Amino acid sequence: MSGESAPAFKTIPHHAPVADAERAALLANPDFGRVFTDHMVTIRYNTDAGWHDATVEARRPITMDPAAAVLHYAQEIFEGMKAYSLEGGGAVLFRPDANARRFANSAERLAMPALPEDMFIQSVSQLVSIDRAWIPTTPGGSLYLRPFMIAGEAFLGVKPASDYLYMVIASPVGSYFKSGPKPISVWVSRSYTRAAPGGTGAAKCGGNYAASLPAQAEAMRQGCDQVVFLDAIERRWVEELGGMNVFFVFDDGSLVTPPLSGTILPGITRDSIITLARASGLDVREEPYSIEQWRADAESGRLREAFACGTAAVIAPIGEVKDGAGSFSMAQGRENDSVAQSLRRSLTDLQRGAAADAYGWVHRVF
Ligand SMILES: *Cc1c(COP(=O)(O)O)cnc(C)c1O
Repeated sequence: MSGESAPAFKTIPHHAPVADAERAALLANPDFGRVFTDHMVTIRYNTDAGWHDATVEARRPITMDPAAAVLHYAQEIFEGMKAYSLEGGGAVLFRPDANARRFANSAERLAMPALPEDMFIQSVSQLVSIDRAWIPTTPGGSLYLRPFMIAGEAFLGVKPASDYLYMVIASPVGSYFKSGPKPISVWVSRSYTRAAPGGTGAAKCGGNYAASLPAQAEAMRQGCDQVVFLDAIERRWVEELGGMNVFFVFDDGSLVTPPLSGTILPGITRDSIITLARASGLDVREEPYSIEQWRADAESGRLREAFACGTAAVIAPIGEVKDGAGSFSMAQGRENDSVAQSLRRSLTDLQRGAAADAYGWVHRVF
């Protein structure tokens, strides 16, 4: 943490925001990540001045030197979070302090400066506030927020850059999976791994995603929605999907999720699910679970459900597991009495302000 106090935000409202009718048409069917709001946040950093020039302004392309470090050595990190509209008006963020902390941890791993956590929360809140007309009020809709930081120094030597640009953009979204919370199919990648011990698996950086694309493409070619990664050493322990953590639900009602060993992204949804499940009396174990065990437990019926979770999709039950070494399917509980559906409801009720906020997770923006 740089220790200096947060600079005040300068706001320059868009002189020609999207007209009401056009915005309404865009909000009617926003898809995921294709529609953007009128504004963006920028904050600059250099080693001499620290964080400065915090601005909320019209969203527009940015210019950078072709030698900017991010373009060559991928010094980049990001976050993913959502603003939810409340039924009676107003909007909330869900655990933004956890995103702020994770962003600082990712920064440290990529040798970038940590943005003070209060500045992170303020930056996101400012954007949600000025672009409040863009927050969907449709069921399952929300305003997806994408804070990120890139290295801007024009220098081809390999070293941490001396200047950085932090930005936040926002995108109204409907449901992540077009099919709704129907079971997804997953492909177990035997050719690729996502993260190795000592690597960047626990940091939210673009490079992890770039490297996961061939595995995701392989999954799509196999007719699956998502890829499942195994550990890089023994190639048997289930780690996570390309961008979602994973849980297993057993016939005794207990849950298992792979432990945060450094190669798994510490999901805030994962953490919230562990807390909510334990509060409802379920036993949750963070322990390694192998792909052979997954198949055996699915076949014996000991394993009742498997589901993936993350901010974008919330909770997605896993139906089919396709694997070169033998495919199998999960016998999912009935749609409305599965543990996945009940946890999904607890989580979304909290995010919508429809359930008591026992953990102080809900942060009111306006
Ligand atoms: C962001 C992300 C997740 C999910 O994290 P949430 O905080 O729950 O959204 C899981 N895995 C990877 C690789 C991610 O990048």
